[in-house]
Amino acid sequence: MADKRDYYEVMGVPRNATDDEIKKAYRKLAKKYHPDLNPGDKEAEAKFKEINEAYEVLSDKDKKARYDQFGHAGVDPNFGGGAGGSPFTGDIDLGDIFNSFFGGFGGGRTVNPNAPRRGGDTETTVNISFEEAAKGCSKTISFDRIDDCSDCGGSGAQRGTSAKTCPQCGGTGQVRISQRTPFGVVQTARTCNRCGGSGRVIDTPCHTCGGSGKVRKKKTIEINIPAGIDNDQVLNVGGQGNAGTNGGPSGDLHVYINVRPHPIFERRGVDVWCEMPITFSQAALGAEVVVPTIDGKVSYAIHEGTQPGDVFKLKGKGIPRLSGRGRGDQYVRITIEVPKNLTDRQKEILKEFDSATGEKNYQKRKGFFDKLKNMFGE
Ligand SMILES: [Zn+2]
Ligand SMILES: [Zn+2]
Repeated sequence: MADKRDYYEVMGVPRNATDDEIKKAYRKLAKKYHPDLNPGDKEAEAKFKEINEAYEVLSDKDKKARYDQFGHAGVDPNFGGGAGGSPFTGDIDLGDIFNSFFGGFGGGRTVNPNAPRRGGDTETTVNISFEEAAKGCSKTISFDRIDDCSDCGGSGAQRGTSAKTCPQCGGTGQVRISQRTPFGVVQTARTCNRCGGSGRVIDTPCHTCGGSGKVRKKKTIEINIPAGIDNDQVLNVGGQGNAGTNGGPSGDLHVYINVRPHPIFERRGVDVWCEMPITFSQAALGAEVVVPTIDGKVSYAIHEGTQPGDVFKLKGKGIPRLSGRGRGDQYVRITIEVPKNLTDRQKEILKEFDSATGEKNYQKRKGFFDKLKNMFGE
């Protein structure tokens, strides 16, 4: 590591230089060696870093005092930290100090107020039924968007008049302000207060839009909702958002899909689930039952001895995939309703049925009591 140069030497000022003289020297050197003005020049970059490091110390009363007394050892921890106190990090953000002085350099980032700008996106929600989501549908939706004022054609000037180029900024939307500071005259760019940055002034504003050239309008369009869309998904409708400025394109409309719950069907991905109650004797004997699907009713043969909770599958009766490739399945879970409020005659028959029923008809029940026997060793 090369020996550090003396900070006063770096700044080109005598040891007894006043704060003002140090500041002036810094301003001059920093401008001279600023990387933006010396692109790719490694030596200038190193100089600039050195100047900033020196200035960080000499502009700080405490650090300057330590430096004056102990030299580099007083302010740089790499020198063994003779003086104690808060260690000087040595790492300086080149941009920070400089920008705090000069408000950035050159810039060249001023935005042309007359450049075309895309309008913002807007959003709305559409409510659809379970079936509409499954099969797809077209919907008429209304939503608010910001559009060009039709009375003034978006100019903001009352019909028969027109907007003029702002005399204060010459249409750039920005004005340069010279400020006298301790470091000399500094120029900064500010948004023009006459035209608010638009570069144009309107003497007679349009009554309808108040001079903004834009109005909030309700718009109604028809959209196609693809089969397979799910709750909370968002459809993007290009070009239906807020109108652009200076001929820029409109933004997009985001349509949030809200699918109302179905009384029977529940959706799990592309599959449809439902519960199907059957009678005790249908379960025992088997039966032809009618099952609802999103395509309508289909008949299904329940086999003999169906148990509660059994699930059967109707292949391909689920929701179409959004990709258009195939469909999910429908799953039907069986529940068995035990009859209530039986008449005396019905009870009679059931009792007779029960006494005629052997253990082999009740395999689960038999297995349960076998386990009980083992538990208690009866
Ligand atoms: Zn202006
Ligand atoms: Zn208008």
